[in-house]
This record gives sequence, structure tokens and C-alpha cells, in this order.
Amino acid sequence: MTEGGALVLFSGGQDSATCLAWALDRYERVETIGFDYGQRHKVELEVRRRFRDRVFDQFPKWGSRLGPDHLLDLRVLGDISDTALTAEAEIAFSATGLPNTFVPGRNLLFLTFGAALAYRRGLKRLVTGVCETDYSGYPDCRDDTIKALQVAVNLGTESRFVIETPLMWTDKAATWSMAQGLGGAFLVEAIIEDTHSCYLGQRERRHEWGYGCGQCPACELRRDGFDRWRRDRDRMPVE
Ligand code: ZN
Repeated sequence: MTEGGALVLFSGGQDSATCLAWALDRYERVETIGFDYGQRHKVELEVRRRFRDRVFDQFPKWGSRLGPDHLLDLRVLGDISDTALTAEAEIAFSATGLPNTFVPGRNLLFLTFGAALAYRRGLKRLVTGVCETDYSGYPDCRDDTIKALQVAVNLGTESRFVIETPLMWTDKAATWSMAQGLGGAFLVEAIIEDTHSCYLGQRERRHEWGYGCGQCPACELRRDGFDRWRRDRDRMPVE
């Protein structure tokens, strides 16, 4: 057990839910932060509450470590950006090669606000589910970006925050596998039922891998990862 506490950037998606379990497994005190930035898939703000409740109910050891949740209003981000995540627009690739689901500055702001809150709460670690392997090409998910931001935040606050990125080099199949390793079938079930990835915010249909339209890039990533994870798991020799 590592001493101290952590603040998990918990959006309500598969990745950040897995990161929350990862942090609860390691740290004695874990708080969560979420952001309302005018996202179309606002339903993730509801499922994140349900996921936290499940952790309390089903994982008593983790529940005793889980501290308050902080929800910040960052709707100004939606006001200043013109993206398919914050406005009714078709998901497409822009001339820069980036999908128009990219919200410029999003992770930079989230981590900076996270650090400001962690400073006040006395939490030394910031945990985020960004990933360079299986991502949509977002430059603010890259390892170099996060490392540079850690330096900037520490210089700017005269602190020694550590930004932890447990999923940086994993793909979506490995993320499912990590959840299984951390919390077994209960955690996998909690992630299927009470996390949300679909960019369009759809939850009418339940698939084996969870809820969503099944067609947007976020649904595709989640489904493909789930399928690969299950295939690999079923291939493992039984001991
Ligand atoms: Zn979708």
C-alpha cells in the first residue's frame, strides 16, 4: 500500500471506472472529480454516480476508502468549442486528421482543475484514464503531453503532484482484463452496466459490452476490446 491519497478523474466511462478501481486497490483515500462540459453524452454524469454506489455496496474494502465526489461545471468549454462532442454534428475527421470529437484543451483543463482541487484536498496523486495505444488520436492523451503538464502543474503550484496514467500503454482488451484482475466478475459487470462510452449518449440498447449506439467510434472501440478480451480469456488453459 502506498501512502497518501489520490484524486481520480472519473468521467463515468469504462477507462476512468477501471482507473478508479485501480486507485482504490492502491491508495487509502480516493476522491473523484467529474466535469460537466456540455457533453452530448451527458448520461455519463448519471452513470458515474451509480458506479460509485455499486463500489460502496459490492466492494466494502474499496468503499471504506472512497471519499467525496466533486462535480465541476465547465460548460464554458462547450461554449468555446465547436465539436461533435459538444454540439449536434456528424462525427467526422477534420482536415488536421483529428476527429471532430476532439475537444481542444479538454484534458489540459481537466488535469489543471484536478490539480487545483487536489491541492486543497491534500491529495498527492492525480489518476487519469488517458491512453496512447487505443485512442482516437487525441494529442492531449499522449504520454509526452501528460508528463509536460505534470511539470507545469508542479512548477505552477510549487508541489510534487504525480499524474498517474495506468492505461497509457494498454489497449481496450487489456483494460477489460485489468478490471477482471482488480475486481473479478463483479467489477466487469459494474462496468458493463454502469459506465458509459457512447458519444451519442444512447442507452436504449444493452449489448454484451454495455449500452450504446454500437456504431460511433467510442462504441466500436469498446466492443472490439470486449470481444478480443473475451476471446483471449476463453483461450487461456484452465488450471
Ligand atoms: Zn455509440
